Amino acid sequence: MIHITLGKMRYIKPDQDGLGRDHVGWDPHMDDAALFRANRGCWVLGERADREQYALLSAEGTVRQAIEIDRLVQVPGGRRAIEGRYLEAGHPVYDAYVGKPQPIAPVRNPVTYFDSPHAARTCGCGCGAPVTLGWFLTGHDQKALHDRVAKVGTVHQFIDWFDRTYVEEPRAMASRITTIARHTNARTVCSAHGAAAECGALVADVVLEDAGSNHIEWAVCERWFRDNRDAATWRSRNPEEAALLGL
Ligand SMILES: [Zn+2]
Ligand SMILES: [Zn+2]
Repeated sequence: MIHITLGKMRYIKPDQDGLGRDHVGWDPHMDDAALFRANRGCWVLGERADREQYALLSAEGTVRQAIEIDRLVQVPGGRRAIEGRYLEAGHPVYDAYVGKPQPIAPVRNPVTYFDSPHAARTCGCGCGAPVTLGWFLTGHDQKALHDRVAKVGTVHQFIDWFDRTYVEEPRAMASRITTIARHTNARTVCSAHGAAAECGALVADVVLEDAGSNHIEWAVCERWFRDNRDAATWRSRNPEEAALLGL
C-alpha cells in the first residue's frame, strides 16, 4: 500500500502545477472530494507504486483518506498522479485505517510503501485466488490476455481487429463544471480553499464532476471564481450566465 504524508494546506500557482490546482495539503475543513482533488498528485512514485491498489493520505499522524487506485498518470514535471476514487466507511481498507494513527513511523520522504493484509483482492483473470500486490497471480495476466486474443483468432488477427476498433478517449482529468450560480446553498466555508484560508464572502455555488465523483456541490469565494482554470474555461463558454453573476 502507498502511504503519503500531507502537510498543512498551502496555496500554489495553478499555472505552475501539473494538475492546475491552486492549493494542496490538508485542512480539517476539507471534505473528502476536496482532499482527493488537492492531493492525488503530484508525487514521485516509483515502480512499486504501479503494483499497488490503494493509497492512504495522512496528516498530523492520522490517516485522513484511503484511495482505490485505477491507474497512475504522468503529469508535467516528471511526477505522477493517482486516478481512482476515495473510499468510504464499509470498505475494508477504509475501516482498517481512516481516522486511526498512521500505520508507519513518520519518515522524511512523503511517499512510502508498506505491506497491508487489507489490500487483498482476487486475481484479475477470474481464477478467484487472492493477490495482495498487483492485479494478477504470476503468469495469470498472460493467460487472461491470450484467452482474449484466442477469442478473436491469431495474434495477427487480434492486432488487426484491435487497430480497427480502438478509439483513444481524451483523458482530461480536470473537473468539469456543470453549473455556477449565485450562492444560496447551506455551505458557510469556501469548498475550494477550506476554513483555514478565511476566504471571506462566498459568492457562488458550483456543481461539478471529476475523477472522484460525478456530483459535487461547492460554495466558493470570489478568488476561486477569478483564478481557477476550470472557472475561467466555464466563463469563456458561458458568457451570459457568467455576466448574470455580476462577479
Ligand atoms: Zn488468476
Ligand atoms: Zn476560497
